[in-house]
Amino acid sequence: MLPDIENLLKLQVADKEIRRLQEEIAELPKRVALIEQKLAGTKAQLEKAQASVKADEVARRKHDSTINDLRGKISKYRDQSLDVKTNEQYKALLGEIQFAEKEIAATEDKILELMVNADTRDKEVKAAQAELKEETAEIEKEKEQARQRTTEDEKQLTEWRGKRDQLRTGVDEDLLRQYERVSKFRGSGIAEVRDHKCMGCQVILRPQTYNDVRNGGKIVYCDSCQRVMYTNPAEELVEQKPITHRAKRHHPKIDAAQAWYYRSEFGDTGEVYLCLTNNGGQASRRIYEIHTGRLIGDIIIREGNYRQAFPEDITGAIRLNGEWSEEELDAWGTEAPMVVLDSLYADLELARHEMQARTTAKHESPASVAPTEQAAS
Ligand SMILES: [Zn+2]
Repeated sequence: MLPDIENLLKLQVADKEIRRLQEEIAELPKRVALIEQKLAGTKAQLEKAQASVKADEVARRKHDSTINDLRGKISKYRDQSLDVKTNEQYKALLGEIQFAEKEIAATEDKILELMVNADTRDKEVKAAQAELKEETAEIEKEKEQARQRTTEDEKQLTEWRGKRDQLRTGVDEDLLRQYERVSKFRGSGIAEVRDHKCMGCQVILRPQTYNDVRNGGKIVYCDSCQRVMYTNPAEELVEQKPITHRAKRHHPKIDAAQAWYYRSEFGDTGEVYLCLTNNGGQASRRIYEIHTGRLIGDIIIREGNYRQAFPEDITGAIRLNGEWSEEELDAWGTEAPMVVLDSLYADLELARHEMQARTTAKHESPASVAPTEQAAS
């Protein structure tokens, strides 16, 4: 793995932690506010219960004074009754007295009702007070915890920021800029490649891109999400296992009239497929760029079979399975069709896995066991 990739992965861990801590710090006051809101509800309940008690007390005082007034009236009527001259006057006063007495009885009933209610009111107030006390204690505890948490988070945040700044100095400037730009918009700037897929955006990589990432020789960005890509060797091993257990790869015949080869570079072109064909004592050579299928240069024809005619092209190349007629090759013109490229690429992958499996088995370097062609002697 490239040191820059390793540093970016560490940087990503630091960035994620910093983001998590910042979010947590921002979240804590909200949690406290939520508890305080609940506390305000309990306070309002208590105030309502206390207001009811007060209202009852006012009503009670009013009733008491009503009764006093009525008693005063009755006493006045009794005094007057001593001085009445007629029976009718006496009756009228007696009626007034009876009426006042009824009023007193009704008011006394109301007072009794208030006294009964007072018990319930009292319980309500006490319950609300107890709840408020409990909630206040709880919120104080929560607030204290939030304070401690914030302090701890801020301490960690400072540490992680220090680590991040340190890590940033270890990454190439352009790469860092790209990583941070993508991070800002997508939340992460580096993505693992697994199963030929960018795990950042789930888009399947082109075969060449996948190989570049897997080889780990250079920094590769995802075409789709622009994240820096890397492969996890442990995951890759898991992925390769079933491939090594696949049916044995069909090997091309040594004396076939047509042979396809892969070369990792050819002149200025980079990766190419070579198509060598024997035809009536002559050999022809076509070269195709492996991603676009573009025909590179002219078709070269030389005397003899292709092993004699093009030994320098064959040396170090990987022999592939593939056979198409001369008419088909002509029909392609300057571009090999996608289906041909796919078929050759699939075989190239198999050949590579085969080489790797052998390397692993023999604990030798790939070069010494690679099924590459040797120059014809
Ligand atoms: Zn992507």
